[in-house]
Amino acid sequence: MATASVSGPTKVLIPRMSDHALVVAGVMRGTGIDARVLPTPDDESMAIGRSLCRGRECLPCFLCTGDILKKCREPDFDVEDHLFFMPRGPGPCRFGQYSVLQKQILAEEGFPNANLFSPTTEDSYALFGDDPLTLRKRAWQAIVTTDLITKATNEHRPYEMVPGSADDTHRMCIDRLVEAAEQGAGPHFVEAMAWCARRFESLDVERSKPRPLILVIGEIYLMLNETANLRIVRAVEATGGEVLQGTFMDWLHFVDWRRIDLGLRFRDYADVIKATLSDHYQRRWQKKLLRPIRSLFRHPPDSSVPDAVRHLVPYYEPVLGTEAVLTMARTLATYHHGLAGVINVLPFSCMPGTIVAAMAPKLRQQMDGIPWLDLSFDGQGETNVNTRLEAFMHQALQFQRRVVEPALQRA
Ligand code: SF4
Repeated sequence: MATASVSGPTKVLIPRMSDHALVVAGVMRGTGIDARVLPTPDDESMAIGRSLCRGRECLPCFLCTGDILKKCREPDFDVEDHLFFMPRGPGPCRFGQYSVLQKQILAEEGFPNANLFSPTTEDSYALFGDDPLTLRKRAWQAIVTTDLITKATNEHRPYEMVPGSADDTHRMCIDRLVEAAEQGAGPHFVEAMAWCARRFESLDVERSKPRPLILVIGEIYLMLNETANLRIVRAVEATGGEVLQGTFMDWLHFVDWRRIDLGLRFRDYADVIKATLSDHYQRRWQKKLLRPIRSLFRHPPDSSVPDAVRHLVPYYEPVLGTEAVLTMARTLATYHHGLAGVINVLPFSCMPGTIVAAMAPKLRQQMDGIPWLDLSFDGQGETNVNTRLEAFMHQALQFQRRVVEPALQRA
C-alpha cells in the first residue's frame, strides 16, 4: 500500500471536515493536482466507521474511516487511481494512529492497494506534488480565508433581517474563494476577500440588541464539523446567542509554536528555524488576507499563540502539549473580548477534551465564574444537548447583564 508522497498530478480525495476542504482542494487544482472533496459525512459514514473500527477510537476517526470506506465501495471507483488525504499528529493522542488503523481496515475490507497520504504536525503538514512548498503556502492562504469568511458569517447570521441571507452570502463567498484558489491563490485571494467584504456589507442586519457571546472551542474536528457537533453553532444562535468559534489557523499557529518550543528545549535549531520561517510567512499572509475584510469584524482578532499561552502558564504546564493547551490558552486570552459563556466540545473519551473539562473550575475562577458547558459527543444522536444548552444560555444571559455589559460600559 502506498502511504506517503506522490509526485506529479494525481487524484486526491479530501474528507470534508469543513468548508476549508473545498478551498484547499481548489488550491490543489490550481497547482495541477486533480483534487476533489468527499461528501459531507452522514449517518452512513458513522455506521460504517463504527462497524469497522475497534470501538476505542474517537468520533472523528469513525467519521473519516466511514467516509473513506463508503467511497471505496462505490461500484465504479478505481481505488488505485486515488489518494485519500488523512492528516495525522504525533504524541500521546490517538489522532496519530488513525491512518495506521485505516490502512489495516482498508486491507481487511479488500482494498489493500488503497492510498493514504498523511502529512503530520511534526513537519507542519508539509504537502506533496511537484512543488510542495507552493502548495503548502497556498493551502495556508485557503485556511485563513475560509476561517475569516466563517467568522464573518457567525458575526452576521444572528442579526440578519432576511432569514438565510447570511448563509447564502457564505456559500457565495466560499465559491468565490474556490475560484480564486484555482486561479493561483495569492493576489486572487486578496481580490476575493474584497469581493466577499462587499457582499457582507450589503447584508441587512439589526444589532440593537446584542446577544451573549459564546466561545465554541475544543477538539478541532468536532469544533468545525457540523455533522459531528450536531450543528452546535446554529443551536446556540437558536437559543439567543452569538458564537465566536475557534479557528483552523489557530491550530496551525499552535503547531508551529510547539515545534519552536520543543526545538529550543531539545536544541533542534534547524527545526526552530524552519518553524520560525513558516510562522513568519503565515503571519504576513494572514495580515494581507485580513486587510480587505477587517472592517466587517466587531470582535478583535485572536492574539498570537505565544501570547495566549502566557495566560495559561500560571495554571497548566504548556509543554504537556495536545489541543488541551490551545483550547485553554485561547479561552483565557479571549475572555476579555466580551465572552458570556464557553462551550468546550469534545468527542466522547477525548483525552485533551477531558483535561480541559477537568481544568474548567480553575479556569472559570480566572474569568469571573463564566458559565461553562462541556459537551461530549459520541455520534449516537445525543438527546439531552438542547436541554443543557437552554439552561446554559439562561446562565449566559444573566452573566451578560451582570458582568459583561457593566465591563463594556466601563471600558
Ligand atoms: S484530540 Fe481527542 S478526538 Fe482527537 S484524536 Fe485526540 S483523543 Fe481523539
